[in-house]
Amino acid sequence: MTIENNLNKICASLSDGVKLVAVSKTKSNEEIMKAYGAGQRIFGENKVQELVRKRETLPKDIDWHFIGHLQSNKVRLIAPFVAMIHSVDSLKILKTINDEARHFGRVIPCLLQFHIASEESKFGFSYEEVVQLLSAVEMLHLENVTISGVMGMATFTDDVELIKKEFLTLHEIFQNLKAVFFQGNDNFREISMGMSSDYLYAIESGSTMIRIGSTIFGERNCVAN
Ligand SMILES: *Cc1c(COP(=O)(O)O)cnc(C)c1O
Repeated sequence: MTIENNLNKICASLSDGVKLVAVSKTKSNEEIMKAYGAGQRIFGENKVQELVRKRETLPKDIDWHFIGHLQSNKVRLIAPFVAMIHSVDSLKILKTINDEARHFGRVIPCLLQFHIASEESKFGFSYEEVVQLLSAVEMLHLENVTISGVMGMATFTDDVELIKKEFLTLHEIFQNLKAVFFQGNDNFREISMGMSSDYLYAIESGSTMIRIGSTIFGERNCVAN
């Protein structure tokens, strides 16, 4: 299968309102251009330097989404152009993104990353933490970020019931936050969940954005992350 075929097959299976982020980490410009040639415009990367390097040489109408863990000291490098940051996992990083976005005269759409998997992971909020964050007065002053929704990763397992349960949990979190903090706010609308192995379950559970790498580009040689 070619990259074009893989992409077309996924796109054909998507229902309306589900956007595809083509995860191009570790992949070459040439491979990315194949997906671009097939019409794909949203690409996801998880390393700042790699993203900056690719963005310099690839077409300017690509929407670059940052999906990896973000360190404060690197926000400035992507703030001028990044279309969405999926991986906000602290108030500190959100404030830094806000400051850097202001510096460049931008408003950056951000997703709050939740820890929904049963595996140990260093990254991602709990529901209580986000309630606290959204209630903080400092939030009122963050005018250069928009909270556009939530993001999460299910456990890496073949236990389908567990995966579905975790995706439904994220969907429920989204709905609760919408009701409590974002009623009537159309910016808060995205649920970023679903990767190559589990995106069909994610869509069943209400995903609006799937992040797919290996099913489009093939297996990664060196796993970045
Ligand atoms: C690598 C990555 C993906 C894509 O993974 P695949 O299994 O290759 O589809 C999605 N989300 C995040 C956060 C990633 O790091």
